[in-house]
Amino acid sequence: MIRVRNLHKRFHKLNVLNGINIDIERGEVLVVIGPSGSGKSTFLRCLNLLETPSEGEIHFDGTLITSKQNDINVQRQQMGMVFQQFNLFPHLSVLHNITLAPRKLKKLSDAEANGIAFDLLRKVGLEDKAQSYPGQLSGGQKQRIAIARALAMSPKVMLFDEPTSALDPEMVGEVLEVMKNLAKGGMTMVVVTHEMGFAREVGTRVVFMDGGKIVEAGKPHELFANPQHPRTKEFLSKVL
Ligand code: ADP
Ligand code: MG
Repeated sequence: MIRVRNLHKRFHKLNVLNGINIDIERGEVLVVIGPSGSGKSTFLRCLNLLETPSEGEIHFDGTLITSKQNDINVQRQQMGMVFQQFNLFPHLSVLHNITLAPRKLKKLSDAEANGIAFDLLRKVGLEDKAQSYPGQLSGGQKQRIAIARALAMSPKVMLFDEPTSALDPEMVGEVLEVMKNLAKGGMTMVVVTHEMGFAREVGTRVVFMDGGKIVEAGKPHELFANPQHPRTKEFLSKVL
């Protein structure tokens, strides 16, 4: 689904990504872990070109999206993204947040877009919040709405950047549950998270990043039980 080759990202003179290579298979739940500043968010943001790679190639579903001729807007519609800070539109109702992109970009009718939105609201357990505004929701509810909003475009991939890091502890579970169900349904997912329980239970593969590189990758239970690289060992000893 996604092929990354020799991905580099520099901000001025700061090398943030230093040659990332990975293939993300259809239906895979790739969990990305690593210390703060290791380049996890930059990596994720390069996948849909929210950051422009300094070097390297990214293929998405057969298309070389880093090509100069490519119109990234086409693929962005097929890649849902969920952020730590939700990024809901505060002045729009929940329903309007979810239906905006399908109406504007997919030119769906109001009835079609609303139908999709209510299906998704049911899926994330928030059917009764359609007319609420983001400010009236808890953090966990906001994040479930943000997921529903991303899903409304029927993406082929979902990218999550620490979706539970801004939540009070009692709300983490409800968001992870939604993500787990998404994974069960076969969604291809790339998830930056510090939730090692989620990584173990739902991840098909874990990559450990440090210094803008993938230091180590493997099946969750193998990588957690038997990390090979000293930096992986050190990181896991702090978070497990
Ligand atoms: P992580 O998500 O693993 O914490 P990031 O990808 O956010 O790491 O950041 C990696 C490094 O890149 C950090 O040193 C950060 O300060 C730097 N960085 C990220 N975005 C920018 C930017 N837009 N301009 C300059 N430096 C940036
Ligand atoms: Mg980050």
